[in-house]
Amino acid sequence: MQYHLNGFKPGNYQVPDEARKPYPEPPIVDLPNEVDVLIIGTGPAGLTMARQLSEFPDIKTCIVDMAPGPLLFGRADGISCRTMEIMEAFNSSEMVVKETYQLKQNTFWEPDEANPENIKLTHKIADARAGLSEFVHGIVNQARLHELLLDGMERSVTHLLPHYSRELIEMKIDDSLTQDLDAYPITATFKRADEAGAGKIETVKARYIVGTDGARSNVRRSMNIPLEGDSANKAWGVMDILLNTDFPDIRVKSFIQSKDHGAVMTIPREGGYLCRFYVEMDLLGKDKRVKDTNLTEQDLIAKAQKIFHPYTLDVKEVAWWSIYEVGQRLAERFDNRPVGSSEDIIPRAFVAGDACHTHSPKGGWGLNTSLPDTFNLGWKLAAVLQGKSHPKLLRTYGTERRKVAQQLIDADRELSRLVATRPTAGNDAKQSTVDTAKIEAFMKRQSGFVSGTSIEYFPSYICTGQENQHLAKGFHIGQRIHSAEATRVADGRSQHLGHLVKADGRWRIFLFGDTQDPREPSSAAYQFIDFLANDESSPVQKYTPKGADVDSVIDTYAVFQQQDLSMHDLHDFLWPAKGKYGLRDYEKVFQAEPGNDIYDLREIDRSAGCIVIVRPDQHIASILPLTAHEELKQFFDVFMIEQK
Ligand SMILES: Cc1cc2nc3c(=O)[nH]c(=O)nc-3n(C[C@H](O)[C@H](O)[C@H](O)COP(=O)(O)OP(=O)(O)OC[C@H]3O[C@@H](n4cnc5c(N)ncnc54)[C@H](O)[C@@H]3O)c2cc1C
Repeated sequence: MQYHLNGFKPGNYQVPDEARKPYPEPPIVDLPNEVDVLIIGTGPAGLTMARQLSEFPDIKTCIVDMAPGPLLFGRADGISCRTMEIMEAFNSSEMVVKETYQLKQNTFWEPDEANPENIKLTHKIADARAGLSEFVHGIVNQARLHELLLDGMERSVTHLLPHYSRELIEMKIDDSLTQDLDAYPITATFKRADEAGAGKIETVKARYIVGTDGARSNVRRSMNIPLEGDSANKAWGVMDILLNTDFPDIRVKSFIQSKDHGAVMTIPREGGYLCRFYVEMDLLGKDKRVKDTNLTEQDLIAKAQKIFHPYTLDVKEVAWWSIYEVGQRLAERFDNRPVGSSEDIIPRAFVAGDACHTHSPKGGWGLNTSLPDTFNLGWKLAAVLQGKSHPKLLRTYGTERRKVAQQLIDADRELSRLVATRPTAGNDAKQSTVDTAKIEAFMKRQSGFVSGTSIEYFPSYICTGQENQHLAKGFHIGQRIHSAEATRVADGRSQHLGHLVKADGRWRIFLFGDTQDPREPSSAAYQFIDFLANDESSPVQKYTPKGADVDSVIDTYAVFQQQDLSMHDLHDFLWPAKGKYGLRDYEKVFQAEPGNDIYDLREIDRSAGCIVIVRPDQHIASILPLTAHEELKQFFDVFMIEQK
């Protein structure tokens, strides 16, 4: 798809350039007095939280932003493979795949030894992320990703819409109420930010609050959560431009190091003409902030032109630009519980996204780490609010995501050191050059982290069973399920199994059969299914509310090696009767595809088979042998609440 030929136009890329309009500012509607979950901020973290909760009609959610309407321009541009997978869980991946610019190569340019004033191509490599996911890494306007999340919210059963032009000015937590699940311990006070309502104050009471209000988070400040780490001392410029150039690699991601003028990273963008430039600017003196530099877009262009020498850079339009500081900072904790507080305390207020981790944008991790923060928290909050899970589940959010944020900060520090070249402020030491070989090695080593696919949660009661990892070596416990295809028995359709794990709050059990015939009542697979279906102590029986569909809390799928199966010969539970008519569900049983065999691809033990338990956020919670009925019970009993 090509767009922006005659100038950058924000909005829905499905609409042609000539007709595309920016998203309108929505009308102002009064804030509700009381909600279950109050979300502050409509960045990727806030919208993912809202999108997830919009699926639940019994949860009252409110999302608020001080901006007058949806984001139109700029900011994060990279959509990692993992973010694509999450968008698939929201049924919105097709559009992202279609509209993104897909990065396939990286080039490295350095000063030409023969003529160091000029830059010269040193090498071109394939993007290291190939093959890590069925999705590829892509580049698209952050605003467009927001729009897909907003559309999903509006189309959902709750028709959730954000409230704009509201600035959170105060957030208080009544500590005497935090352990009462029915109470509303949060009081948030907002000031209207639009002209018509200027000065008007509104108050909302909430059972939980999620602060996704960016790097200067008011929610974080209200909880006195300190930020640990370095503040910035270097300014970088970022701009999205429409340009003409004789630089040959303008449609490939390029790291360009000049001899005397610093470095530029260029990233081609969606639509075929637009390009993102990250330009290394000057060091900031002691106590100097980026706002004191008075840098303009013309300074960015002039600097980039010098670095590009001998190639020309003719900038026709700057669609968006910004100056930012490089500083890596991490919140001491991700919820309102003070460090060292009792393990029993239920958290009621959370921070996510840039509100709890800030870093440079070069690795493309801002959006791609913020969005999975709330993808981790959303289902947990829903399960607790719906009385399905014990509130202690909420404590795992901070433990799991802070570890990821720490890895992000460490990786960003390393990449910033590798990409930046100039010595520290006031130091007149000789300028160094970027070691592009080191950047390349970093990219290879960190490809799983950069793509988000190797993000792994701690061993805990919701990531357990490491002793059984050998039963399916390609499904890493703690990491997201690495999808692979299998053929649906009922209709022969090929299906990505990972795409069955939608963001609907349900747990999934995938049974991978052994060599025994699953139609035989004595086989381990049949016995396991029969246990789920008929044993009163099985998690399906215990945790599914009476009268609800059998897969409404735990959704079970089976994959078999045998190729001659018919649904009607299999256990009833695998094609259950559901809904008001008791219609049979024929989409739960698969067989391995010859030549594309999931047992080979994910190294599943053919002779033993296994059970893979997948969390509602697609991470693998456990792997068990087919005979481990007791262990399966114990797994869910730790945090689920029995439904009477
Ligand atoms: C100017 C800028 C440029 C950036 N450039 C890049 C880039 O080039 N590449 C890259 O990868 N990343 C970039 N980022 C970072 C990237 O956009 C973030 O990492 C990502 O958006 C984080 O998402 P988030 O949802 O946590 O927070 P944000 O996207 O920052 O969203 C926070 C939201 O909260 C709202 N808000 C804040 N305070 C209040 C309040 N008191 N009351 C109500 N609402 C409030 C804000 O209006 C905002 O909409 C940039 C960020 C900014 C701000």
